[in-house]
Amino acid sequence: MSIHDDLGIRPVINASATLTKLGGSIMPAEVIAAMQDAARYHIDIEELHTRVGTKLAELTGNEAAMVSTGAAAGIVLTIAACMTQGKRELAQLLPHAEKLPKNEVIMFTSHRNGYDFAVRQTGAKVIEIGTDKHTELAELEAAINERTAAFIWFQGNMSGIGDFPIEKVIELCSARNVPVIVDGAAQLPPVENLHRFTEMGAACAIFSGGKDLRGPQASGLVVGKRWLIDAMRPLGSPNQGIGRPMKVGKEEMAGLLAAVKRYITLDHEERRERDERVVAGWNATLNSIAGIHAHRSFPNEAGQPLPRCEFIIDPLVAGITRDEVIKQLWEGEPRIAVAEAGEHGIFLNAMTLSDEETNVVAERLKQILKRS
Ligand SMILES: *Cc1c(COP(=O)(O)O)cnc(C)c1O
Repeated sequence: MSIHDDLGIRPVINASATLTKLGGSIMPAEVIAAMQDAARYHIDIEELHTRVGTKLAELTGNEAAMVSTGAAAGIVLTIAACMTQGKRELAQLLPHAEKLPKNEVIMFTSHRNGYDFAVRQTGAKVIEIGTDKHTELAELEAAINERTAAFIWFQGNMSGIGDFPIEKVIELCSARNVPVIVDGAAQLPPVENLHRFTEMGAACAIFSGGKDLRGPQASGLVVGKRWLIDAMRPLGSPNQGIGRPMKVGKEEMAGLLAAVKRYITLDHEERRERDERVVAGWNATLNSIAGIHAHRSFPNEAGQPLPRCEFIIDPLVAGITRDEVIKQLWEGEPRIAVAEAGEHGIFLNAMTLSDEETNVVAERLKQILKRS
């Protein structure tokens, strides 16, 4: 009997994305085994943090690394580390960042998003540059001053619109000694991103452990400069600091390490081809149904280089609306989650599905769309 039977909740076939609200992703056997193994022993947590960090740095091609409880927690710790720079007396003042000499964090107006709460949570003051459509290099130059603690770049569907290239940001910030933090929470694949941003000169890059890495849902990976990781560690558990409530367990550390080991040896090309096959199959199935127009959509919503199937429902011909299809998928058996596309469309994502589940999704859609 699974926990779901016990609680009376139905598991979800996730054809949407690695969303936190749907449980992120599913851990492979080796990750579960690593967590189980770690769960059996007491350990010196600081020693484990150090050793796991060293291994993760080696595996990802970085100077240093640290496991956090998620990418958002990674933002809190990296921003706090840039403000406190390893000084314990400053760390004790947080979240009253106004008492610290460096407390400003610059970001593009166009990058503002829900996750910048994690920046503000430290007490840091967000300094916006530009508009949601355009930013001049001079606006970044003018925003940097002696109170600047860091620049934060959000990589994802918010980047590439009102900003300018990350290379320029890093160049201008480096010239003024301002660390650039990259939130790349959902930027795997491609696997190269594990070292791409830091090779460009970013102080660190932050990734979710519970998205495509398929580590523990409550894990995150921060890779980057030694000084930054060293300044983060005293702020987090087991130490009393702003990161203490975001405690990383021994199980998360072991699980994320196993997940990264697996991820860097995966055949990503084979995996991409598999997703292409699945999407082509969905397109063929759906295009044979009256009132449905399906095509390949690329890249996906987070900018990951993987295809999705997007299909548009003509409600007059199909005899059913998009919202009704989504409702039936969610309420039927098995429960299936998909993403909305525009007003009449649905996205299907193969990333989070087993081969068997990709067929289940196709069969359920045929049932729903042909019945109507
Ligand atoms: C998912 C996501 C996060 C949060 O990641 P967690 O690991 O759930 O904390 C932060 N930033 C961006 C851009 C994300 O996509």
